[in-house]
Amino acid sequence: MADGNAECNIKVLCRFRPLNQSEIIRGDKFIPIFQGEDTVIFGGRPYVFDKVFPTNTTQEQVYNTCAKQIVKDVLGGYNGTIFAYGQTSSGKTHTMEGNLHDPQGMGIIPRIAEDIFEHIFAMDENLEFHIKVVTNLSVHEDRYRVPYVKGCTERFVTSPEEVMDVIDEGKANRHVAVTNMNEHSSRSHSIFLINIKQENVETEQKLSGKLYLVDLAGSEKVSKTGAEGAVLDEAKNINRSLSALGNVISALAEGTKSHVPYRDSKMTRILQDSLGGNCRTTMFICCSPSSYNDVETKSTLMFGQRAK
Ligand code: ADP
Ligand code: MG
Repeated sequence: MADGNAECNIKVLCRFRPLNQSEIIRGDKFIPIFQGEDTVIFGGRPYVFDKVFPTNTTQEQVYNTCAKQIVKDVLGGYNGTIFAYGQTSSGKTHTMEGNLHDPQGMGIIPRIAEDIFEHIFAMDENLEFHIKVVTNLSVHEDRYRVPYVKGCTERFVTSPEEVMDVIDEGKANRHVAVTNMNEHSSRSHSIFLINIKQENVETEQKLSGKLYLVDLAGSEKVSKTGAEGAVLDEAKNINRSLSALGNVISALAEGTKSHVPYRDSKMTRILQDSLGGNCRTTMFICCSPSSYNDVETKSTLMFGQRAK
């Protein structure tokens, strides 16, 4: 988009959620000032992204502007990754999943599921598709083998409804496992994978593409969470893996072909063949508009700037 480098397929998009009820009641100030399509002024400083979505942006607008093309690319045999980065309650899950069963509230993942099957039904009937989705794909960044990420589900699907079923099931598995773990869900990365293989039954030509959809762990600083012991170690590992991701994205954005530090974290190793190069990478930078969160929001915006 904003980059002249044809090899650079990294887009960074910034989305601000509205002030929530408790922020309004507390009398928090609304900090961001939106300028044009791609700039937000925050705390007196401008931050420029490929696109900035102000608080009133609909789920459909977000999808049409940035995720729709990725579906076409993945069906064309490219790999891709869409991330959501930001502190807890900044709108990551709202952006990636949203309300799965409400046509207006649906986030990117359910819209992608619908779009994929719409494309497939319109395609050449000689093409045979095998679509596999994987939810709760586990990423252990630590030695502790935290049990709640074990509920990985892998399934072939033939309709968008089946994709939603797998997501719902994955959520249920996660819930059962996290019950006794103090807000762990926001301190783990949640990775959803859509793998599309197609074969032309006449020519036997094959094509495959995969798309990772990543709702990252909350980026807030460890100190703010009041964590101790094993939980603190885990939180540090999460922060380390987020900065490893930042380093990879920033190396890719610079076009440093010689050394992209994929091996510095388990997550970037897993995503390696779907990041950079010919892949489509989109990073959503999710932000709170509230004065109460301004330090975290600045750090989130800075993270996004590194990828530009
Ligand atoms: P996160 O996943 O980053 O912790 P959530 O996506 O769960 O944050 O968002 C926190 C709350 O704010 C949720 O209740 C969500 O519905 C709401 N929210 C987030 N983004 C928006 C938005 N753009 N518009 C309206 N509500 C939003
Ligand atoms: Mg979330």
